[in-house]
Amino acid sequence: MKPPQPETPLSRPAAEPLIQAAVDTGRMDGEVALRLAANIHRPGLLDALADGAFASKQKMKGDRITVSRNIFLPLTNLCRNRCTYCSFAKQPDSPEAHTYSLEEVSEVVRGGVATGCTEALMCLGDKPEVAYRSHREWLAERGYGSTVDLVREACRIALEGGMLPHTNAGILSAEEMETLRPLNASMGLMMETTSNRLRGKGMAHFHAPDKDPAVRIRMHEEAGALRIPFTSGLLLGIGENDAERVATLMTLRDLQARHGNIQEIIVQPFHPKPNTPMRAVAPIRDDEVVAWVALARLILGPEMNVQAPPNLAPRMLERLARSGLNDWGGVSPVTVDFINPEAPWPAMESLRTLTKASGQTLKDRGPVYPDWLLGRPEFFDPEIRKHLLRLATDEGYARRPTHQSDEEAA
Ligand code: SF4
Repeated sequence: MKPPQPETPLSRPAAEPLIQAAVDTGRMDGEVALRLAANIHRPGLLDALADGAFASKQKMKGDRITVSRNIFLPLTNLCRNRCTYCSFAKQPDSPEAHTYSLEEVSEVVRGGVATGCTEALMCLGDKPEVAYRSHREWLAERGYGSTVDLVREACRIALEGGMLPHTNAGILSAEEMETLRPLNASMGLMMETTSNRLRGKGMAHFHAPDKDPAVRIRMHEEAGALRIPFTSGLLLGIGENDAERVATLMTLRDLQARHGNIQEIIVQPFHPKPNTPMRAVAPIRDDEVVAWVALARLILGPEMNVQAPPNLAPRMLERLARSGLNDWGGVSPVTVDFINPEAPWPAMESLRTLTKASGQTLKDRGPVYPDWLLGRPEFFDPEIRKHLLRLATDEGYARRPTHQSDEEAA
């Protein structure tokens, strides 16, 4: 797919029927999405796009926006890749390098339970044992054959402690995912981009073998074959162009059509980080975030859960709330966003107020969306589903400890 030529302007009156057609049919073609993306600076066009995406979202999701109260467990910040935008990954000799002990996992889990969280997000670097002998030794001293063994034990501790694990451990084999499935409510891997160009010299993924789009697509396929409820998403602003963004969304739509296991798609803007090779890159504009959330909704259709993290476009939240998303993702009263530590979470109560101001209602979910939990039992191992149901209301939303009021949990 080629980007549209600059001489193909699109006015709001010309764009409106295209947007309405997407709302009516539940899908948008890539060429149309590209024309819209190239013209969002034209008067009123971004508003028309957001209004259409909001109308599409309302069709299947009504006036609810969900959020998952979670804890973030960065089990290890060692990683074999070196993405040029990443400040999460550390070298083993860095004083900030850290791999969690099971005691530390237990402690964070206790903090999560005490503050009404249900989701334990296990997020870590890719296969550090492949790159670092010291990490291999660390694992062997504790009886682990790989980092995935540590993840498995951490998931067990989270479950025993009363929380529901969601693992994003980078690229996993089908066998590894199969062993994690009974211990996880859901799992994930951000597609980020399907652009091979970004693997070229000087580009964001040059030193990141696990960011090969074919490898990531294969893991999505394997998770689909294993019927694992899966989180994926689009990363904005790492050097990709509009055509590559649309191509990534189209790939995700195609994967969903074939496997049906993608539970949610995150539209995540990249924030330049100090001390990284991409520190001087201009951050993506907030109105562009709004546009791509809206385009994701219109391309993926009204049924998909579309998520945008509220800490990454804080000045635009009310606008973002009416641009087609139906989920704010994980927000933690306990842990920071270790991937974007400079971006604090909004307080749950302010998110509730802001969502209300947008004419919608904020609902707490767990790592599994209510309609998946209640309506798609085939996606869950029977044991994990028992835990999910125990921590859910009859409607499938997160069950909060009875001693906690909304204000206390906020
Ligand atoms: S973005 Fe992920 S894969 Fe890339 S270096 Fe950071 S932790 Fe590793």
